[in-house]
Amino acid sequence: MNLENYIRDIQDFPKPGIVFKDITPLLLSPEGRNQCLQQLVAAGAKHPIDKVVGVESRGFFFGTLVADRLQAGFVPVRKPRKLPFQTLSESYALEYGTDSLEIHADAIQPGDRVLIHDDVLATGGTAAAVCRLVERLGGEVVLCSFLMELTFLNGRQQLDNRPIHAVMTY
Ligand code: 5GP
Repeated sequence: MNLENYIRDIQDFPKPGIVFKDITPLLLSPEGRNQCLQQLVAAGAKHPIDKVVGVESRGFFFGTLVADRLQAGFVPVRKPRKLPFQTLSESYALEYGTDSLEIHADAIQPGDRVLIHDDVLATGGTAAAVCRLVERLGGEVVLCSFLMELTFLNGRQQLDNRPIHAVMTY
């Protein structure tokens, strides 16, 4: 089946006017998951990767699987005050106000080659903040990897020239 068939549009979620791409039908399907995973792994395998960084929370589903297949470490990036050890924090702009994400200070070593994974690239604020966290620790962002890129939101611009791969584009 076409992978797009596993993605469900939810009108007005989480707010009126937003059409949310729901990945839960994809998660329900072993066949759909496998197809996605193969594509994510193939894109990641073009580069040597030391660590896969997954973004809370939907970046954890495939992030750990990709890390396993690439024989790389997995690093969770989480919402504030969720990680127990010493952290670095980066803020990013939302439509109203700011939010932030944290990483463990010892999760990335200088020179580590890093693949960042999240489910969706929308405006790019989230992924750009994760890139900054990785680079502040001395890591090199080798690939930003997503299930979906919403191209009409121009998230690529926020990621400068960092390489991007998305399984599906809208
Ligand atoms: P951005 O910072 O690029 O605007 O938003 C990306 C972040 O918001 C990702 O962590 C992603 O999980 C979430 N997100 C934004 N829009 C959607 C959507 O339509 N579907 C899903 N599943 N996540 C979204």
